[in-house]
Amino acid sequence: MSFRDKFKNADTALTFNDVILLPGWTTLEPSEAIVTTKLTEKIKLNVPFVSSPMDTVTEAEMAIALARNGGLGVLHRNCSLEEEVDMARAVKRAEAVIIRDVITVTPDTTVEKLLGLMEEHRIKGFPVIGKNDKLAGIVTWRDVRLADKNLKVKQVMTKKVITGHEEIDLEEAKKLLHKHKIEKLPIVDKERHVKGLITMKDITLKGDYPDAIRDEEGRLVCAAAISPFDIDRAKALDKYVDILVTDVAHFHNKNCFEATKKILREVSAEVIVGNIGTYEAAEDCITKLDGIKSLRVGIGSGSICSTSVVTRAGAPTVYATSNVADAVKKYEANISIISDGGMRNPGDVAVALSVGASAVMMGNVFAGCSESPGRLVAMEGRYYKEYYGMGSARARKKRFVQDRYSQPSKAINEGVEGWVPYRGPSKDIINEFVGGIKAAMGYIGASTIPEIWEKSKLALVTERGYQEIAPHDIMLPGAGRTA
Ligand code: 5GP
Repeated sequence: MSFRDKFKNADTALTFNDVILLPGWTTLEPSEAIVTTKLTEKIKLNVPFVSSPMDTVTEAEMAIALARNGGLGVLHRNCSLEEEVDMARAVKRAEAVIIRDVITVTPDTTVEKLLGLMEEHRIKGFPVIGKNDKLAGIVTWRDVRLADKNLKVKQVMTKKVITGHEEIDLEEAKKLLHKHKIEKLPIVDKERHVKGLITMKDITLKGDYPDAIRDEEGRLVCAAAISPFDIDRAKALDKYVDILVTDVAHFHNKNCFEATKKILREVSAEVIVGNIGTYEAAEDCITKLDGIKSLRVGIGSGSICSTSVVTRAGAPTVYATSNVADAVKKYEANISIISDGGMRNPGDVAVALSVGASAVMMGNVFAGCSESPGRLVAMEGRYYKEYYGMGSARARKKRFVQDRYSQPSKAINEGVEGWVPYRGPSKDIINEFVGGIKAAMGYIGASTIPEIWEKSKLALVTERGYQEIAPHDIMLPGAGRTA
């Protein structure tokens, strides 16, 4: 092949701004559109949104908020194994009907230590475990809020504990909580060993979040990021999470494949792999990695990403998704696609869905929400939240994500640091995006996500055309901004 041939038949790596969805014949009102989606065989989402595993986007609070509102948060891995496991436990404990992973104290714990535990785990009551590991009492916020900090738990706890038996059902538990006007019901076996805990808060929360994504035990579904090369972390997280997501910039790599094969053999959680960006990468994932459930797709489109500037390599999300979707279709693989990177508004999401995605992963959009871990800062009368790439100098300082990138690029930065506008609670953003996607589905004439794949038609826009389809020739509010 001549070098000049490289330009012949070269693909056009289209991005969100290059395309537009064409309106089609429709019999549907947007409000009738359904945005639920199948992420894996076991897990269906009520909204097609997944938050990025980044330390300015997804910790337990964001993962809880997204699962409650029908989506999924992927916990980041830029922390120690223990810290990531703690986040996963917090998600699982957030609203289980029966909490299995109960945190307990001993009769000799001091009130001071107890108050610290309450703050650390954000819980207000603990079963007290005494001799022979038997339940000796229960201690709650009410017992200690005015108590001397040097007292011991045994001096303030309630000794006569109302308990439930192991086969208790929700209705029976509700009756007991109501009858005794208590908030927490330890579940014990015949020897009074604590086997679980039912709380009033969890029971009432169930009614508050009808769209929540839950596992068979009623706990929120949880996903966590891993390095394919850290099997210990994968195994530790596997005890708590439903989904493990490999988190590397270029997954189509022999070492990543070999390491992931081991993980697939060792874990029971469903495994999502990525990031990939080409037909060939998808083909290899489908044919060589038995058991993967979903592909994380897109390289270099992220708003904080500088990979394609530094290396001139990448596979923009729209282009990558369409390529991967064709491979999935060709092999009739039961594998979904999560488009990852570059989406700023519901229209971008609709485009990603139109080229074969089942869901989208967003960092920038969720980084601005109140549940993200980034700092809230005020600048020139507006609020912003901190947001930086996992390949930025800032994220790499913590050193846990070094292996997201290949050996030589460990020395260079593939991400930038900055701020995104504060957007308020994620619930509002989710509603806004759902509204926008349903409106797009109305234009397309598709009532479900699989119908978007089938019916949507795309057209290309030129750079000048792009200026026309955005607001233009009007002075917008805000200092000197002209659209
Ligand atoms: P956003 O929603 O901000 O446009 O994109 C978020 C996505 O960018 C993440 O889900 C992840 O795949 C990718 N990403 C995160 N940090 C970096 C980085 O520093 N460099 C690159 N190349 N990609 C990043």
